[in-house]
Amino acid sequence: MTETERHEYDVLVIGAGGAGLRAAIAARERGLRTAVVCKSLFGKAHTVMAEGGCAAAMGNANENDSWQVHFRDTMRGGKFLNDWRMAELHAREAPDRVWELETWGALFDRTPDGRISQRNFGGHTYPRLAHVGDRTGLELIRTMQQRVVALQQADHAVTGDHESGLRVFAECTVTELLSSDDGAVAGAFGYRRESGRLLEFHAPAVVLATGGIGKSFTVTSNSWEYTGDGQALALRAGADLVDMEFVQFHPTGMVWPPSVKGILVTEGVRGDGGVLRNAAGERFMFGYVPDVFKGQYAEDPEEADRWYTDQENNRRTPDLLPRDEVARAINTEVKEGRGSPHGGVYLDIASRMPADEIKRRLPSMYHQFKELADVDITAEPMEVGPTCHYVMGGIQVDPDTGQSRVPGLFATGECAGGMHGSNRLGGNSLSDLLVFGRRAGLGAADYVAGLGRRPAVRPADVDAAAATILVPFDPPSSGTGENPYALHAELQQLMNDLVGIIRTGAEMTAALERLGELRRRVRDVVVQGHRQYNPGWHLALDLRNMLVVGEAVTTSALTRTESRGGHTRADHPGLDPEWRRRALLSRCVPGDDDAGVPRVVVGPADRAPMRDDLLALFELSELEKYYTPAELAAHPARDP
Ligand code: FAD
Repeated sequence: MTETERHEYDVLVIGAGGAGLRAAIAARERGLRTAVVCKSLFGKAHTVMAEGGCAAAMGNANENDSWQVHFRDTMRGGKFLNDWRMAELHAREAPDRVWELETWGALFDRTPDGRISQRNFGGHTYPRLAHVGDRTGLELIRTMQQRVVALQQADHAVTGDHESGLRVFAECTVTELLSSDDGAVAGAFGYRRESGRLLEFHAPAVVLATGGIGKSFTVTSNSWEYTGDGQALALRAGADLVDMEFVQFHPTGMVWPPSVKGILVTEGVRGDGGVLRNAAGERFMFGYVPDVFKGQYAEDPEEADRWYTDQENNRRTPDLLPRDEVARAINTEVKEGRGSPHGGVYLDIASRMPADEIKRRLPSMYHQFKELADVDITAEPMEVGPTCHYVMGGIQVDPDTGQSRVPGLFATGECAGGMHGSNRLGGNSLSDLLVFGRRAGLGAADYVAGLGRRPAVRPADVDAAAATILVPFDPPSSGTGENPYALHAELQQLMNDLVGIIRTGAEMTAALERLGELRRRVRDVVVQGHRQYNPGWHLALDLRNMLVVGEAVTTSALTRTESRGGHTRADHPGLDPEWRRRALLSRCVPGDDDAGVPRVVVGPADRAPMRDDLLALFELSELEKYYTPAELAAHPARDP
């Protein structure tokens, strides 16, 4: 039996980004003893990188905005694959969540008359993103950290212990979920990253809020934390992942120099007036408006430019089409020889706005390019290209409570699936974190309140989890001694090359074979040294998660024989209405397990039809582009 540090809570939240913190606050406010565990320092989660803003139909910049318009935009952006109930809750509740942040001390940028300012972003009909310059995620996390501290101070006043109601375990990694005999969640197992000390949490409800998967790809905007841990933990515990084929490639990442390739260039640059040009200086996006969006976007640069100041009488610029469309357009320009010297295109804000205004509106972008690429964006265009940014697929949850199909296991934020369909609109993640973080925290609290007795952790599971994480120090077949960094680089390259922005069946079949090989080799990964401060060991453990998630993404992408949103098949280029009705669920095959990397199977499931009052928010002619005639038989605009 291995020595572990043991802790008991009512609700355990794994992840301290926007979603995890909002869930923890909700659970603690319901009076439950809550713990938050995170890999990074408290306050350093990936969410702090969010730049452009948080989408909420507050109607401050255009009073025609409403939750219905936001709902419509979100469904269109996701090409009607979104869980419509999630999209509805999100659009309805986002404004309240933004206001709530201000009551906790956030300070968003203001309109001249003192309201929260809202900026334009791709796919949003009206300016809708509440923002703090281009550092919105930082303000969101800072505010919620402050709220956590305020709750801890309130607890201290009553109990004399700041951490009696809400405790943060920073720089700790969870490696396994623990269940009871009847299959409910009962806790989690992990370790302290600094010391390697093992941790055992006992809790009847666990909320996963671990973020995305971008570190499985070479070119990504994502931070080191994004190794798909929550998705893999959920799969191994018996939950389903939904629609893992949908991975968003943001159109504008840095492309030069190589050391910074993939770092994000916020969509706020285009929202505030920046335009894309090819090597010939042409604003090429006018040639890439797809049929489903025809008539909704400006047809020439003159109209597009007028739209920035007069949105009632002009249509928006196609530079602000949803991200999947813009990323594909850039990909085509580069492939057809009209790209920039380093394999991107140009993003020009310099010729569109005075230098002082650029520095005021986009301070982070100004410094990012100046310091990392020696480019002055107030004087010259940026070179940009697609970068792996966000995963729309994720843990399948109940929209209202965030509960997965495993009793007591909840998920929220980027690691949960459904909300964004096949493509997320910019700004809809920060609002997603707030809306569904709160809902998952409340869902977990209600679940615990309704339990007759607490589920018990099985001691043998704790021993097995401890043994698994120590394997890389002494692998059973250490003959070949695989290096975790080399294996990670291979995985990233194969995902990038074979399961990237444009996919084919043949390449993905090859990818699955290569993933199978990596699965066999991961058994032999060996690390040197001790458990203290050992990044090679951390990566060796993360690799198991990246492999299982890579298999879920690839198998789902191979199964979906159409192109939609963040999933483009060169061998199946069109949208297929039959596929819109189907979700793809990834599950683990119990017992089929190599070194803790279970096999994944993917199968279709029917989507629930949209409620009639929501369906009626769309013109019949638009729905006909996505739905089968049979599904639209009851639409109010259909002739009897
Ligand atoms: P995160 O904020 O990533 O938090 C995950 C947490 O889980 C971290 O605390 C991490 O340490 C922890 N964790 C992970 N694995 C484990 C484990 N095994 N054990 C313990 N802890 C673990 N969205 C917008 O809406 N607007 C924007 O303007 C915007 N800008 C962006 C800019 C950039 C550069 C990037 C990369 C993304 C941007 N996004 C934006 C997307 C958005 O930031 C993310 O989708 C969102 O922050 C995810 O939040 P989260 O709470 O789900 O996860």
